[in-house]
Amino acid sequence: MNNSTQTGRVMRLQSGFYTIENEDGSITCQLRGRLKKGRRTGDIVAVGDMVVYSCLPDGSGVIEEVLPRKQVFERLAPTARGDYRQIFLANAEQLVLVFACTQPDPSLRMLDRFLVIAEKQEIPPIIVANKVDLIEIEQARAMFSVYPPLGYPVIFTSAETGYGIEALHEVLQNNLSALAGPSGVGKSSLLNTIQPELGLAVNKISASTDKGRHTTVVREMFPLKGGGYVVDLPGLRALALYDIQPEEMDGYFPELRSLVADCQFSDCTHQDEPNCAVTQAVEDGRVSPERYVSYLHIRFGEEE
Ligand code: GDP
Ligand code: ZN
Repeated sequence: MNNSTQTGRVMRLQSGFYTIENEDGSITCQLRGRLKKGRRTGDIVAVGDMVVYSCLPDGSGVIEEVLPRKQVFERLAPTARGDYRQIFLANAEQLVLVFACTQPDPSLRMLDRFLVIAEKQEIPPIIVANKVDLIEIEQARAMFSVYPPLGYPVIFTSAETGYGIEALHEVLQNNLSALAGPSGVGKSSLLNTIQPELGLAVNKISASTDKGRHTTVVREMFPLKGGGYVVDLPGLRALALYDIQPEEMDGYFPELRSLVADCQFSDCTHQDEPNCAVTQAVEDGRVSPERYVSYLHIRFGEEE
C-alpha cells in the first residue's frame, strides 16, 4: 500500500472527478469506494472541502477521508427517497450578496430572503450595492440604510468607475466567499475589475450548471491572486426555504429575534395578535416596515 497521503482542498468537481489543490500543486482524484457505501443522504465531497488523499503511481489520486467542515452552504433537496443534502460550498466563510442600485432596481425582498438563508446557515453575509455610478451616492446609501445597523455590512461599488473596488477586493482577499445575486447586477464585471478574466471564468461554470438536470454538474472555486477563493452560487434564487420551519423565521431576522420574547403569545406570528412586540416595534419605527413586509412574505410563502 502507499504511505503518501496528503491533504488538500477540493477546487473543482465534475462527474465523480475532483480536482484537489495544495501548495505542491493539483491532482485529479476519485472517491475511495468505501466512502460511497450506504444510502446516499447527501453529497459526500463538495467544493471547498479539505480532504485526505493518497497518490497512485499513474499520477492520479484517491480521496480517503473528508475532514470536518466548518460552515456549509447547502440545501435539502426533497427526493422520492427522502431529503438529500446538496452541498454548494463547504467551509464557506462569507456570503457576498450582489445587487445593483438600479438597472435592475434592487429587490430588497430577495435580498432579505438571501439574508435569512445566510442566518440559517450561519454564514456571515456582506451586501454589495453595485452600479453606484448610475445614481447619487446618498441615494444609494439611503436605499440600503436598514442593513448596517443590523450587522450586515454594505459595500458600494461601481465596476464602471472603480468606486469601492478596493474595499470589495479587501473583503474577498484571503476568504472563501460564495457569491450570489440576480443576473445583470454586475457580478462578472466586478470580478473582472478585481482580476482580469475572473468573471468570465466564473460565468462559464455557472452557465454549465444552469442548463438543468441533464447536463453535467460542474462546480468550481476560483483562486484570487494573493489569497482567497470565490465561488458563484447559480440558481440561489430558487433556493427554497423549505428546510426552515415557519415558526423559526422570526429568529432569522436579527431585529425581530430580540423582540419575540415580549409578545404575549409564545406562538405569536406577529400579524394581528394582541400585545405583539413586533407589530408594536413596527408602529414605533424601531423595526423597518420594509423588513417587516419581507418577514411576512417569507414566512407566509409569497413570492417576492
Ligand atoms: P452579471 O449578470 O451579474 O454577471 O452582470 P454583468 O457583469 O454581466 O453586467 C451586466 C451589465 O451591467 C453589463 O452591461 C455591464 O456592463 C453593466 N455593469 C456592470 N457593472 C456596472 C456598473 O458598476 N455600472 C454600470 N453603469 N454598469 C455596470
Ligand atoms: Zn408577535
